[in-house]
Amino acid sequence: MAECIFCNIANGESPATIVFQDREVVAFNDIQPKAPLHMLIVPREHIQSIAHLEADHSDVIARLIYTAKHIATAQGLKGYKLVFNVGREGGQAVDHLHLHLLGGWARPDDWKRGFQV
Ligand code: AMP
Ligand code: ZN
Repeated sequence: MAECIFCNIANGESPATIVFQDREVVAFNDIQPKAPLHMLIVPREHIQSIAHLEADHSDVIARLIYTAKHIATAQGLKGYKLVFNVGREGGQAVDHLHLHLLGGWARPDDWKRGFQV
């Protein structure tokens, strides 16, 4: 088993509620949701963070964002947030690149109540 929890989720060795997966990315529910819908979209490749991206990773980033859009549309979300935390000072706790997809609030200003990710 890998040292990295998100590598283990991506390769099926750790449990998670997987909502979408393909050759490049895996999306699963956040274990401690900060919104009515809170998913994480991760590349199968272990990349530590946005700060560790190389030029040839542009396809991976596009795939993460497109997958978030695809899930949001499939879930019928009217609006949502996409968040990358970068480094400890940026709130990143898990050192495997992940895109937070947050949404499902009923009214336009509901996300402001207690929002923290
Ligand atoms: P970040 O602070 O940007 O690194 O976000 C890490 C996120 O991963 C947090 O929202 C955690 O709740 C979530 N998380 C940590 N471990 C797991 C896990 N095993 N399954 C699902 N989500 C997790
Ligand atoms: Zn990893």
